[in-house]
Amino acid sequence: MRWLVMPAVGSCQLVPLLSSGATGRVAISQPVGRGPLARNRPDDVRIIQDALNQVTVKGEAGGPLPFLDVDGICGPKTNAAIAHFQQVQLKIFDGVVEPNKKTIARLNEIVDPVSDDDLKVKLQLALPLVGQAINAALRNLQAVITSGPAATGPAAVATDRLNRHFRLDTLSQPEQSTARIDLFGSYTRFNTVITNPEVFNITNEDEFDLDKGNPKIALTTLKGFFEEGKEDEKTHKRLDHIHLGLGFFAPNVNAEFGAFIILHELSHFVGRSNGQNVGDEGRGWFDDLFVKPLSANQRLSNADSYAGFAQECRTGSAAKPPFVQTAPGGLGGAR
Ligand SMILES: [Zn+2]
Repeated sequence: MRWLVMPAVGSCQLVPLLSSGATGRVAISQPVGRGPLARNRPDDVRIIQDALNQVTVKGEAGGPLPFLDVDGICGPKTNAAIAHFQQVQLKIFDGVVEPNKKTIARLNEIVDPVSDDDLKVKLQLALPLVGQAINAALRNLQAVITSGPAATGPAAVATDRLNRHFRLDTLSQPEQSTARIDLFGSYTRFNTVITNPEVFNITNEDEFDLDKGNPKIALTTLKGFFEEGKEDEKTHKRLDHIHLGLGFFAPNVNAEFGAFIILHELSHFVGRSNGQNVGDEGRGWFDDLFVKPLSANQRLSNADSYAGFAQECRTGSAAKPPFVQTAPGGLGGAR
């Protein structure tokens, strides 16, 4: 069935709509995939890529992992994902998604878009753990800052944690005390973001925008904390928000993992007390391949080091959590 639809701007165009019975949120104008039928209009390809990613997010069989880039290009990964979805869900093998046919109908059945309620639920689980981790990090730093040179008890434990995650023991005494006070300032700002979102004149939910089109877990602006009310000129993304993407809603992101992600993003978001950025110098736990060689100064500019220290302060364990993955840094900014 085809309807003549008047778009907001421009002339009328033919737009195919799904027949009644399908929910119709996932709709394409021309076939996507491989073979003679496929037209692969970029807008259509994006819709299918996004829908296939959401199959994975929903925990249904047949979705792609890792997620597809939602880039409008129907390449080998997208074709493979279409074929896999059809085989698993429908036992058909033609590799092409056509408007109004079985594959798009099944996608519509499965894909119930991630909603603001889903976001609320995720944050209600993760934010208390984030708050506990920040407060534990601040208590540890305070113990070291207020102790004498020969630390004992809680101050000695905290010193070990700072040395593990930030290599402070490789710095001179004056550099160490500056670093501790700077870290205290950064984690204090973390707390400001979590407990006083009205500082930005927005609600707690708005602080973590849901980014439906982005298969990344999260993204934020370096030092977005200081960009109140501003948006990116090109994308119109708010600079003073931490944007959570589809990856944040994947089944493997439980409360613990979610809290670690938020701590990581918070460090990009507030930056260092000396004004420098916190980037991604190396992803992973303190003794992982890409973190181990980092100097103290690099770790003080490394998001996973902030998340790792706060994580250990909260749990009391230096063991690497199962969800922490290692990867090279230097990806050119916040990820
Ligand atoms: Zn990052």
